[in-house]
Amino acid sequence: MTVPMTVPIVTLQAEEKLNIYSDSLFTGEQFLPGKGFLLSLKGGCLTSICPAGRELIKDRLALEKTFSWPFQTTVMPGLVDCHLHLALNGRDKSAGNVFRPEDFQRLFKDLLQAGVVAARDGGDALCQGLQLAHYSTRVKKGGLPVPLIVSTGAALFKKGHYGSFLGKGFACMAEAFAMLEELGRKGVEQVKILFSGIVSFNSLGKVGPLPFSRKEAFFLVNKAHSLGLKVMAHASSDEAVQMALQAGADTIEHGYFVRRSTLEQMAEKQVPWIPTLAPVTLQLEKNGSLGRRQRHIIVATWERQGRALLLAYRLGVPLAVGTDAGAPGVDFGRSVIKEMQLWAEAGLPLQQILRSATLEGARVMGKEKELGRIEPGKKPCLLVVRGNLREDLSGLEKPLLVII
Ligand SMILES: [Zn+2]
Repeated sequence: MTVPMTVPIVTLQAEEKLNIYSDSLFTGEQFLPGKGFLLSLKGGCLTSICPAGRELIKDRLALEKTFSWPFQTTVMPGLVDCHLHLALNGRDKSAGNVFRPEDFQRLFKDLLQAGVVAARDGGDALCQGLQLAHYSTRVKKGGLPVPLIVSTGAALFKKGHYGSFLGKGFACMAEAFAMLEELGRKGVEQVKILFSGIVSFNSLGKVGPLPFSRKEAFFLVNKAHSLGLKVMAHASSDEAVQMALQAGADTIEHGYFVRRSTLEQMAEKQVPWIPTLAPVTLQLEKNGSLGRRQRHIIVATWERQGRALLLAYRLGVPLAVGTDAGAPGVDFGRSVIKEMQLWAEAGLPLQQILRSATLEGARVMGKEKELGRIEPGKKPCLLVVRGNLREDLSGLEKPLLVII
């Protein structure tokens, strides 16, 4: 058995100076033209990016602490996972498994080792993801390397419908409003509302009935907005996505079986979509108990989602990468790269995939001022990987260096 080598995670101390040499640079928006860049970091800030050939930096390498590699590398902003469930362990869905601090440490490590510097948590019944978000903020202030976490606390779902392990059920609007107010008091910035169930692996295209009326959906989203909370809409059928869009939801999560006309509306309203291909596709690798028919349905669902994703890209829908990690078979950290590879298989240009996994993700998290971009004058939050990401994403499977 080979023991995987640990990826160095570096936090820059005040007044500490270091340089990074890389052959390619992806800013979060695009690849910079040119071959070879020297990034200078000082006092917790990226101070400059200079074009530099390998030969030219030799003298400088001897003078100052410089990270460089004898093979081709790309530097890019740290990855953002826009949809995961930190408190679900991927196996047991019962809400009763309370996480311990050491579990949280392992989670942070799994994320950072995969180059994931920030994540948006979609909630759990015990609000443990939110506790973790508060914990990470405290630890981060102390200068320790942890990812930035934004959590929705507990998701809202209509009693009797899907969602018991993800959050709290409401029976009436008054109860739902009280829950939204409580989440606001607990310090969440976004809430998750379940507009549908999940896709079925037994019947193609089946998602289940809508849990509430259009009017109720409208009131829920409006109430959240009146409290200053963004709404993350879990919606896995075209009808559910339609309802979420009309109610004014801020992002669409999953969106399986979405139709062209609905994608056109998303493009027009510029509502981001987080299509989460990994939780469905990974079943083929990780779930040994599937029958032939179920495998067939999973493949058909995945392929349909891939086609919808490509169409969404062409229509101009904002797209962000989310994995649903914590769901069965979806690992924390590494699944981000898997999700990105699935997007590449669906035919999306690599530059768009990288943008969705960095800058677009940061926007969806509401943290675009802090991360998602490599820019002089900003705090660096980046990773270096082997190879040229313009050509393929395989270097992401094992970053060479993470700086947060
Ligand atoms: Zn989810």
